[in-house]
Amino acid sequence: MKPAPFAYARAKTVKDAVALLGKHKDARLLAGGQSLIATLNMRLSAPSLLIDINRIPGLDGIKLSKGFVEIGALARHTQVERSEVVAKHSPLIARAMPHIAHPAIRNRGTFGGSIAFADPAAELPACLLALGGEIEITGPKGKRKVKADAFFKDLFETAIGPRDVLTLVRIPAATKDTRTGFAELARRHGDYAIVGLAATAKATGKGLKDVRLAYFGVGATPIRAKKAEALLAAGKIDEAANAVAKELDPSDDVQATAKVKKHLAGVLLKRVAAQLMEPRS
Ligand code: FAD
Repeated sequence: MKPAPFAYARAKTVKDAVALLGKHKDARLLAGGQSLIATLNMRLSAPSLLIDINRIPGLDGIKLSKGFVEIGALARHTQVERSEVVAKHSPLIARAMPHIAHPAIRNRGTFGGSIAFADPAAELPACLLALGGEIEITGPKGKRKVKADAFFKDLFETAIGPRDVLTLVRIPAATKDTRTGFAELARRHGDYAIVGLAATAKATGKGLKDVRLAYFGVGATPIRAKKAEALLAAGKIDEAANAVAKELDPSDDVQATAKVKKHLAGVLLKRVAAQLMEPRS
């Protein structure tokens, strides 16, 4: 199918993009276009104007700053996947990147686009939740920061308002005691997950503390399994895997029934628990 007609504007700066969003109520930002263009072609969305943010300078950086890994909204998935800063200081993101779609899509798709789109089966929103990351949003009143725990509101709904641009994501850099785990089940490698799990914890010497388990593909947003987190921190892996089936409330979808998803959530928990226990994961 072809999209409905739309106008096109190229924003030169973030301020420019925010001003254009203010003038055109049903405009949409265009980043990598890997999700947006598909929705236009399927006529699930018909904005009158696309505001291309790809040429805004300075939005694609990746750097370590004051104990945080900062990833600009326009950093392409491939760029993040190959980043030495990410490999060294954000091992969870490094683990997750190869699971996102296929190389052609990763070449264009952006880190910010993935967080802003907030597909409930996507890897990066769950990673951000597990990591306790922070999202920087620029709107008509300037910049504001939103914690990942408060960012994902509902199905494809986030704290980004109609006149806002996501500009940066900030992730606490890993320390020596940081442990991470990541696993997903998909029909084919590169497909969206049926169920996935991103996890972080701190090693205590005897076990784990500060466990954060963020599931994806089991609800409208990425979801933390807090009872299972507490059980895993107490070293009770089997109990945690059982608790997850009660804690999560997925719906049947085209990929799997709710019952199968709950079972898979427990399976993933055990795999991820083993990764978290590895000496440096
Ligand atoms: P776009 O498509 O340009 O935009 C998506 C939405 O976000 C639009 O509404 C846009 O207005 C908004 N937006 C974009 N950037 C910003 C910003 N900076 N501020 C505010 N709003 C913004 N993703 C996965 O996570 N896992 C997968 O397994 C996966 N598989 C895929 C398979 C296929 C076949 C395809 C086509 C895509 C797949 N994707 C997958 C999606 C891919 O990761 C996209 O790149 C990503 O979801 C959106 O990023 P984008 O830069 O392409 O955003």
